[in-house]
Amino acid sequence: MSFQVFGLPVSRGVAIGRAVLVASSRVDVAHYFITADRIEPEIHRLRDARDAVANELTTLQRDLPAEAPAELSALLDVHLMLLHDDSLTGATKHWIEDRHYNAEWALSAQLEVLARQFDDMEDEYLRERKADLEQVVERLLRAMARGAASAFAPAPGVRPRDFAGEDPLVMVANDIAPADMLQFKRSVFTGFITDVGGKTSHTAIVARSMDIPAVVGAREASRIIRQDDWVVIDGDAGIVIIDPSPIVLEEYRFRQRQSDLSRERLSRLRHTPAMTLDGKRVELLANIEMPADAAAALEAGAVGVGLFRSEFLFMNRGGDLPGEDEQFDAYRAAVEAMNGLPVTIRTVDIGADKPLDRMSANELRHEHALNPALGLRAIRWSLSEPGMFRQQLRAILRASAFGKVKILIPMVAHMSEVRLIFEALARAQQQLTDAGKAFTKVEVGAMIEVPAAALALSSFLRHFDFVSVGTNDLIQYTLAIDRADESVAHLYDPWHPAVLKLLAQTIEQSVAAGKGVSVCGEMAGDPGFTELLLAMGLRSFSMHPSQVAAIKQRVLRTDAGKWAAHLGAILSSDDPERQCAATALQVST
Ligand code: PEP
Ligand code: MG
Repeated sequence: MSFQVFGLPVSRGVAIGRAVLVASSRVDVAHYFITADRIEPEIHRLRDARDAVANELTTLQRDLPAEAPAELSALLDVHLMLLHDDSLTGATKHWIEDRHYNAEWALSAQLEVLARQFDDMEDEYLRERKADLEQVVERLLRAMARGAASAFAPAPGVRPRDFAGEDPLVMVANDIAPADMLQFKRSVFTGFITDVGGKTSHTAIVARSMDIPAVVGAREASRIIRQDDWVVIDGDAGIVIIDPSPIVLEEYRFRQRQSDLSRERLSRLRHTPAMTLDGKRVELLANIEMPADAAAALEAGAVGVGLFRSEFLFMNRGGDLPGEDEQFDAYRAAVEAMNGLPVTIRTVDIGADKPLDRMSANELRHEHALNPALGLRAIRWSLSEPGMFRQQLRAILRASAFGKVKILIPMVAHMSEVRLIFEALARAQQQLTDAGKAFTKVEVGAMIEVPAAALALSSFLRHFDFVSVGTNDLIQYTLAIDRADESVAHLYDPWHPAVLKLLAQTIEQSVAAGKGVSVCGEMAGDPGFTELLLAMGLRSFSMHPSQVAAIKQRVLRTDAGKWAAHLGAILSSDDPERQCAATALQVST
């Protein structure tokens, strides 16, 4: 029987496919299809891992000290029994043979099936054996990683999806860490659903950047959906339909075709300059997470990178941060790929829902009771590690010898930070000069994403060359709503008059001061705000490459002057969203 789950729409489009349930802790397990001739070798890898773990466990048991409690030996017996049980390794084979999953994926798929059976058990003792099963699987995965794990992984450039040939797949997880999302670029999944998360959580942002239909904050989804269920992800409405009827399926297939067509039509605007009906030039820039994304930015017709979220280079490295040369290589790659177009590199914005280690926002919330969004995040973290900060500044400065580079500082809030930032920059420049390394003069900008910075903007404008408004955080900090928390997502409102006033004020003051101003939060890529932002005087927007064409189309159809005449009424309204809709009707007639 068909039923629906509601969540938050975070990435547009429709995905139809079979559900693959993945435990949050195993999202990073490689998921790819193997070709038919690899089935046998892949089963061998599984067997080898099983034998290695059996050896490990028997050795552990044999070497137990005499005084060890008897329960320990009994526990190892349970693990050995689970390891040899046909429902684990035997059944895992079926995922490899029938579905062509790689061994690690097959194993985690089978674990999900068994974990649910354990969850449904009446007997508490048996229910608790799920943890043992997970430990055994963990050992198997580690044994595989030690063996020839990557030998069969798809070659770079091959989308693992190409091997599919069968039903498309969508991932269902309780939560996905932002850094793990990056793997989707090379994964078999055509969409995803998570139980937790907000619309502008970094997991959602990365999904949007990849243009994968997604729904987050779908609460019980990973409990309700079963492995292999057919699901439709309606990324526009935030609806997940499980086991859809043939009529519903046909309707969504139709919508999929329509949206492919409209995307194709929009892509024809790629070389058209973005100019309003009344002749105002608008700069459409791209937000990127990795140097390789620069290609998509160019492809989309972006005229530069307005936000390179450098923190993605720092994540999931087990505390081993990228050194100066490694960072320099990454920045230089992005700069060179952009072929002379400007690249704005934001210094690392670690913290809140972007931890250094693989940890989802949800885990973070539970493990760290303190409030990470108000803690040592972004520039605060950089200034607390001055050596690391200067190292990043040197790497960025060195990249400036290869193209047009700008530096952007996240979450500036206090004037004392400004002094430290420019001192660090001067020292980094001096160090490069002393070492005889080339760099050019770069513009330095501040992200305006804390209300304090927006309210004291004139002080910041005296020091920085430009500002970029991070509306995702500006909304979070103005309204006191955790952007990653689905339980308050209904109150996360970009249309709130307080948010719009801060935004309008920031744009107006920056323009008056003759300083560049851009918006790089999600509002910039949302066509629902384009006219309003143009009315506020904004002429520089930075967004995911996939959004550039739709925003350009809006810009081309907008008379910025006519809209500006209505700005006062919109900003002073109790319901700016409604007022904006009314204005759209008036302006178009
Ligand atoms: C923002 O806050 O709007 C922004 C662009 O930065 P991030 O989403 O990475 O916090
Ligand atoms: Mg931000």
